[in-house]
Amino acid sequence: MYRDQDIECISRERLQELQLKQLKKTVKGASKAPFYRALGLKDFTISDLSDIRKLPFTTKDDLRSAYPYGMICTSLDKVVRLHSSSGTTGTPTVVFHSMKDIENWTELVARCLFMAGLRKHDVFQNMIGYGLFTGGLGLHYGAERIGCLTIPTGPGNTKRQLKFMKDFGTSAIHVIPSYALHLSDEIEAMGIDPKKEFPALKYAFLGAEPHTEATRKKVEEFFGIDAFNSYGLSEMNGPGVAFECPEKHGQHIWEDAYLVEIINPDTLEGVAPGEKGELVITTLQREAMPIIRYRTKDLTSVIEGPCACGRTHSRITRITGRSDDMLILKGVNIFPMQIEAVLIGIAGVGRNYQITLESKGHNDHMIVRAEIDSNLSIHDFKTLDSLKKRITRELRDEILITPDVILCEPGGIPVAQGKAVRVIDNRTL
Ligand code: AMP
Ligand code: ZN
Repeated sequence: MYRDQDIECISRERLQELQLKQLKKTVKGASKAPFYRALGLKDFTISDLSDIRKLPFTTKDDLRSAYPYGMICTSLDKVVRLHSSSGTTGTPTVVFHSMKDIENWTELVARCLFMAGLRKHDVFQNMIGYGLFTGGLGLHYGAERIGCLTIPTGPGNTKRQLKFMKDFGTSAIHVIPSYALHLSDEIEAMGIDPKKEFPALKYAFLGAEPHTEATRKKVEEFFGIDAFNSYGLSEMNGPGVAFECPEKHGQHIWEDAYLVEIINPDTLEGVAPGEKGELVITTLQREAMPIIRYRTKDLTSVIEGPCACGRTHSRITRITGRSDDMLILKGVNIFPMQIEAVLIGIAGVGRNYQITLESKGHNDHMIVRAEIDSNLSIHDFKTLDSLKKRITRELRDEILITPDVILCEPGGIPVAQGKAVRVIDNRTL
């Protein structure tokens, strides 16, 4: 069953015609945005899809440099919504949408959810953050479009989540994978049998952060349901970019809306078909803020050719990492530089620091070790205690997550031979 068979099962030939038409429109539109105008985008001519390779890449830093309005190519009258990447508290990367953009996004998300099996009789509980972050509103609109009873619980408040799931007969949940595992820990601790307590539950949509096949299996087996991997990023609307079909062999990336390239992040050249590299996406439908060759920094590969489900859109394999140093903790994006900037700004903090990520039960946890300044004594407990509190508070304000802060003597953190090892990721997720 398809939501839109004509487009979901489109022939490669027709798809490429459509992509070329949309790419021309996109480049023409984008060249009106101050950022792309300055790059001379209007002088590039597109006569073939392969001409995409002549166009410049766009990065997160470019979006930051164009803040606040430098990426918009329509008049503000047409713009109805702003979203932002998760976890950014410095200069954020913001994305603008026209009414038509919201409509297209809603349809893409509805297409994903329908593909997984969601129908209008379903009760959909959305346990992902609403607000600037795109996960909440993105799936909310898509599920409403299908006609589901949509419950915008947002994340957290586990007891209420479970009560609602039981009382309203929730049949589908949208949840970040680490929270899904946390939920199962809580349910287990309460001595509840999830299959008896939530007999209506059929689907979980897992998105916003990397997770393994083992995590998916854990969620599926614990609840006795089907779990689907949902991939997206705010720069490309948010969720609705790529999603698993019931075959669960890669995520269909909607090529009528996104032109996909995989590049080698070092040489910036395209990789051979099927090889792993960095995903680069050009929007093909966006009106208010088209983006050309966006370097997602996410590492994946493309499975070409039709899928057993009948859909012809390519699939991307599970994201295995990033080509930059961004960390994702509890669905929040964090760059180690944000932590460094906070530490440098606090008197009493020494030169070296190290970030360790651990799994505590099924929860991600961050430990920040920082050396103290050589003027301080490791025995001055009072001063160290207030220093530790200040670091914790300022880090929480910056990265929106509360780390455990451990202060060490000057020289207490081993210095690496080559590049400093700032992040040690011991998570098992
Ligand atoms: P944001 O812009 O805040 O929505 O963050 C987007 C980033 O989250 C992506 O670039 C990925 O690194 C990560 N992400 C989102 N969904 C997934 C997923 N299903 N698997 C792995 N990483 C994901
Ligand atoms: Zn498929």
